[in-house]
Amino acid sequence: MSSPTAPSCLRPEHLTAPSLQWQNATPISRRFDDVYFTRDQGFEEAEYVFLTHNQLPDRWLNWSERRAFVVGETGFGTGLNFLLAQKKFLDSAPATARLHWISTELLPLTVEDLEQAHSHWPQLSDEAKRLREAYPLPISGFHRLQIHPRITLDLLLGDATTNLQQLHARVDAWCLDGFAPSKNPEMWTTELFHALARSSHAQTTFATFTSAGLVKRGLQDAGFEVRKVPGFGRKREMLCGQYQGEVHPLTSQAAFSLPAPQSAQKIAVIGAGLAGLSTAFALTKKGCQVDVYEAEEIASGGSGNRQGVLYIKLAASNTPASRFYLAGLEFSRRWLEKRDPTQSLWRATGVLQLAHSAEEAQRQARFLEVFDLPSALVRPVDAREASDLAETRIHHSGLFYPRAGWVRPHALCQQLAKLDHQMRVFTQHPIEQLEYDPVNQGWQVTSGTQTSFYDQVVLASGHAMTQLEQTAWLPIKPIRGQVTLLPTQGHPLTSPNTVVCGTGYITPPLEDQLSFGATFDLHQIDCELREEDHLANLTMLDATLPDLLDISDMDLSQLRGRAGLRCSSPDYLPLVGPAPQAEAWQQADPQGSGHTTPLHYPGLWINTGHGSRGLASIPLSAELLASEILGDPLPLETSLLEHLNPARFILRALKRRQKTASL
Ligand code: SAM
Repeated sequence: MSSPTAPSCLRPEHLTAPSLQWQNATPISRRFDDVYFTRDQGFEEAEYVFLTHNQLPDRWLNWSERRAFVVGETGFGTGLNFLLAQKKFLDSAPATARLHWISTELLPLTVEDLEQAHSHWPQLSDEAKRLREAYPLPISGFHRLQIHPRITLDLLLGDATTNLQQLHARVDAWCLDGFAPSKNPEMWTTELFHALARSSHAQTTFATFTSAGLVKRGLQDAGFEVRKVPGFGRKREMLCGQYQGEVHPLTSQAAFSLPAPQSAQKIAVIGAGLAGLSTAFALTKKGCQVDVYEAEEIASGGSGNRQGVLYIKLAASNTPASRFYLAGLEFSRRWLEKRDPTQSLWRATGVLQLAHSAEEAQRQARFLEVFDLPSALVRPVDAREASDLAETRIHHSGLFYPRAGWVRPHALCQQLAKLDHQMRVFTQHPIEQLEYDPVNQGWQVTSGTQTSFYDQVVLASGHAMTQLEQTAWLPIKPIRGQVTLLPTQGHPLTSPNTVVCGTGYITPPLEDQLSFGATFDLHQIDCELREEDHLANLTMLDATLPDLLDISDMDLSQLRGRAGLRCSSPDYLPLVGPAPQAEAWQQADPQGSGHTTPLHYPGLWINTGHGSRGLASIPLSAELLASEILGDPLPLETSLLEHLNPARFILRALKRRQKTASL
């Protein structure tokens, strides 16, 4: 079997909820004319078919690996299998073991329908409540949900095959649910069986309630050994078995394949900004011990502002950047809710993106034509509604993102640094040298006279990482940005009530200060405050919110603010992934397979280049990198990974060179 070619980038779609008929709180699908679970014995059937025939209770009892145990499911439905498995796992697996459940769903139930179905199982009410609280918006694509510190759920919304072809995971056990093949033949296809095989390994098992011949033959053709065993209750037979086929690569291009997981007991993270601290935090949640080294103080670079904007700007066409930032906004939002449910470090005030020019108005109109997304994510507003939302006069129409808002990045970094006893932070510890130790298979990390050994190292020090030998080649650059702070005492302000973005942004006042900006300067890299930058920010403020303040006689020399350096990449997407050995790529054919020289430094990773949208990109990037390091399932589609992999710039340069040479 060849690896299926995946589409370049899945398009986000607003999925419809299923039309249900209820029989005593048991849902029946009108479209498929089939039940979600057996009325009085759904619980027992799920346990018999999926848990017992994948030998999950026994396998969990002894699960001692650092990576999570991974279950894949087709047809999430009401989540019964997941809820049951979660409870059994927490009851039986060792206290350090983690469960990662991946499920696909074409027609996600509404939260209200979930609640009605969940009323069947009072014994699962805590688990069910946690699921409903974390349940995502009905947008197609991958949604990573942290249901419990030891339980991760990836909901892959949309068609099962399309999503599973994009999965980067090795699954330990498959639960093949979905309506009966006779009622839902579109799902049980050869492509689905091959997608299951693509993510399987030599010990992967499967179990399914059906014994249909087409499922049996399809699984056998894809490389599974299939057994018929007695079914549950009145069902005569069901299928279960194990994968025995070839283990396939998870990425279609060898150049972007990830190094095999190695020891990850002790990890050093360089840089205590939001990228470094959230990566460290994600790693500690997966059981690693992490030391964070910072040359200056916590959040002294681009993450040091007191208020920053959690926002995204979706393109009018389906670009990898839009796809990534959409997933990032949703992930950040859930991540902030978990860290700070009382919203003392952030506020979901919504973000207004104004159509401040004819060009931007056209772009927004095209966006609305091309995409149909839930209004809970983004909706158009006219100038009147925009003014009502912001509680100050606005002349433009725009797009409103109700789930976005603002964050206190500096305070958030301070909090992250203290959250976990598995993490130590060393400030005033610049790292001058990193040296690979081939005997112990790890890194010697040197700061001043002190050298320490780590299994792996993550570089998250912004553009400063170009001072290290291994990453000197990275095409990242600092961009200076100045924010202006205006005390609001003389003229107490309560508005704007939402974040307002035009050519710059203005956040709602916080502790008697209004914060707005930011400038964008590619040529200066000092962090001195400049009066001309204050003036540019005031001009932007006045053009965006003309009624807010009289700025005519402000003394620029008295204004406060902060200038910092963001780290940006040539394509404005972050660099997240293994650190490439740049010279090795010149000798190898990175498109082919069977390299003789390793293309990456073993156990050296990068997380940088978040520019001015880090609040939407960093938490998801940190989770992605921690998952790559541990060998856990990745939270993004494979077609997006190559747009984040730091090696993309080398590959693009090589392709350009080959093209020029062939002319
Ligand atoms: N395990 C579920 C539960 O406990 O509720 C029962 C799942 S129900 C029998 C089958 C599910 O498969 C439905 O939620 C249905 O929407 C979903 N489904 C059907 N066709 C699909 C497809 N092509 N891709 C993804 N999900 C699909």
